[in-house]
Amino acid sequence: MARIVMKFGGTSVADLDRIRSVAARAKRAREAGDQVAVVVSAMAGVTNQLAGWCQALSPLHDAREYDAVVATGEQVTAGLLAIALQEMGVESRSWQGWQVPIRTDGQHGKARIEAIEAAELIRRMELGHIPVVTGFQGIGPDHRVTTLGRGGSDTSAVALAAAVRADRCDIYTDVDGVYTTDPRIVAKARKLAKIAYEEMLELASAGAKVLHTRSVALAMKQRVRVQVLSSFEDLPGTLVVDEDEIVEKQLVSGIAYSRDEAKITIRRVPDRPGIAAAIFGPLAAKGVNVDMIVQNLGADGTTDLTFTVGKADLPRAQAALAEVCPGIGCKEISTDDEVAKISVVGVGMRSHAGVANTMFRTLAEKGINIQVISTSEIKVSVLIAAEYTELAVRALHTAYGLDAA
Ligand code: ADP
Ligand code: ASP
Ligand code: MG
Repeated sequence: MARIVMKFGGTSVADLDRIRSVAARAKRAREAGDQVAVVVSAMAGVTNQLAGWCQALSPLHDAREYDAVVATGEQVTAGLLAIALQEMGVESRSWQGWQVPIRTDGQHGKARIEAIEAAELIRRMELGHIPVVTGFQGIGPDHRVTTLGRGGSDTSAVALAAAVRADRCDIYTDVDGVYTTDPRIVAKARKLAKIAYEEMLELASAGAKVLHTRSVALAMKQRVRVQVLSSFEDLPGTLVVDEDEIVEKQLVSGIAYSRDEAKITIRRVPDRPGIAAAIFGPLAAKGVNVDMIVQNLGADGTTDLTFTVGKADLPRAQAALAEVCPGIGCKEISTDDEVAKISVVGVGMRSHAGVANTMFRTLAEKGINIQVISTSEIKVSVLIAAEYTELAVRALHTAYGLDAA
């Protein structure tokens, strides 16, 4: 007997038949004696459509209204799943973020969960009911609906699992686990039985959207056991665990890519103290996250600054730069959103040299130019032209010996 939070992603609730089969799965778990709460995403494609409508009306739209719009997708699936469960004779009701409540900070569009009042959910789970909670959303200090950023339902599930003190958080999705890289672009990707929290965290933040980055950070901090598994087949999934639970440590465990970044280059900026702060300060003030950064000194006493931001933040970043640039005398700004970031991740890197070099050599052999490089203790990332994404990921997967036999 265990207490579990089951989370179902967009493809798992894409139509009424799938919603019925999710209901049946939750009911089976309850009948096996487990206490169950379910977290749902919006039906596949719905959030994209809702976000697209906001974008079409205004690229610099009010983030509070964006949240009011995009949070509706989860409201629909939670209600439908509760109806499907009731139809199967299970006591169930839907819970929207504000009803639980799931309290977040006030950063609309990328809010962080601060607290969940779970006593009533626990009481109902103990009675054998199955509460269905909307993923992705909460309520901010301004009493308005907030959302957690794309893919955020995983974070809702892990936070809920921590709040109800669940034994496990099962993330049901359209692949049967975490692979060495996205199995949709590399047919030879291998499923991992276990992956370390830290590796999963780096892979997720580098673009492996199988888990939302903050869900992994939260699971690591709150000691939530997370399992990723298929909602379509009964196969063993992947457990996210502590590093010391992994016996065979690979040099590189996984490769991730992200096409969600855009590159900004500011040319011929006067090279003097305070320039970086003058540029990056206003970006931070507008909520724009900067990822990779390189700076090149020119012979004429000016410098070129290249950095990446989330693609969705590009209009906001351009607006901020248009305000600051005249004041600091920079001459030219160019942007490129046809770029991809490719990252190789592995805890084995801590103790072995040569990982970055293998990456650079492999890309050179394929004629792929590297535009920006960044590294951390267990990750090397490069920015390349987006058209080479698949080629680069496949070549690196082979180069690091990750291909399935
Ligand atoms: P959900 O809607 O269930 O949350 P997502 O689309 O957010 O599902 O995440 C699952 C997808 O993540 C898979 O379909 C797969 O294409 C992608 N993915 C990227 N990297 C990996 C990886 N290393 N292992 C497994 N899936 C991955
Ligand atoms: N529905 C939201 C999205 O598509 C949240 C999620 O699915 O995790 O981003
Ligand atoms: Mg997801």
